[in-house]
Amino acid sequence: MKPRIAVLATGGTIAGSGQAGKDTGYKPGVISAESLISSVPALAEVADIQTIQVCNLNSDDMTDSIWIDLAQRINDLSRELDTDGFVVTHGTDTLEETAYFLNLTVKTDKCVVVTGAMRPATAASPDGPANLLLAVEAAASGANRGKGVQVSFAGRLFPAREAVKRHTAALDAVTMDKDALEPGRLHTTSTEFDISGLKALPKVTVLYFNVDADPALVAYAASNSDGVVIAGAGAGEFSLLWKSAIEKCKVPVVVSSRTGCGPVLQETMVCPNAVAAGTLQPAKAAVLLRLALTRTRDTKELIRIFGIY
Ligand code: GLU
Repeated sequence: MKPRIAVLATGGTIAGSGQAGKDTGYKPGVISAESLISSVPALAEVADIQTIQVCNLNSDDMTDSIWIDLAQRINDLSRELDTDGFVVTHGTDTLEETAYFLNLTVKTDKCVVVTGAMRPATAASPDGPANLLLAVEAAASGANRGKGVQVSFAGRLFPAREAVKRHTAALDAVTMDKDALEPGRLHTTSTEFDISGLKALPKVTVLYFNVDADPALVAYAASNSDGVVIAGAGAGEFSLLWKSAIEKCKVPVVVSSRTGCGPVLQETMVCPNAVAAGTLQPAKAAVLLRLALTRTRDTKELIRIFGIY
């Protein structure tokens, strides 16, 4: 008997449609989950596939309520004996955020693989079919059980925590941030996060620091959000004006780096209320902070959470 894989489709370029043969000028999130699967006949040789259309959108329009729905569906299906693994199809723009969210919230050892594409299904040479095939093969392989959510892209499989989109157009745009690789980080069944019963996540705003950046932005973000993530310069730095604005924040503040690579360390935090993001990129730090805020607002607790996930 072939493994049974549930493909949960959310949209993106992999389900994009445009002028036949063209790579650009298409609309993401058009083609249905079923058409996506039937356009890759090799999938049927690897697994018995069940398709679920969760939504069909440009991933820039992804929301917390869809994340919760997606994780809940995986959690419900994972309890059924007739599902052996999961594939989520997704737009590449925010794929890394969804993959990391699932990595922290799905409660299963069964393999969950997130994939997407840089070219629409109607392109002359789409990359979606190969990415999808690799995802289904990975989800169907018992070897990937218990390793946390994976991302399949351009012939490679890598962990969700380290997945990052690093290019606007290249076929291997979604890749692995090797400097963020920390195999001991907790995931899936080992996390303290429970999305069952949640309808929304706390709101977190990410602020990008640049020369002369207005400190009023920090105050605005803090009074209109449950938490703030700073994309600081270098190893998580900012001006003296931002420092005093951050120290006045009444909501938790996490400091990450705009450099795109390397750690931000707790011991270098200049504000006593700041939590270092470690090797998490700003958008991933926002995902973890949103989940962390469902449990605590305490700085010490947040430092613990950012140290283990
Ligand atoms: N903005 C689209 C999305 O993320 C296109 C990017 C893609 O899927 O490659 O859904």
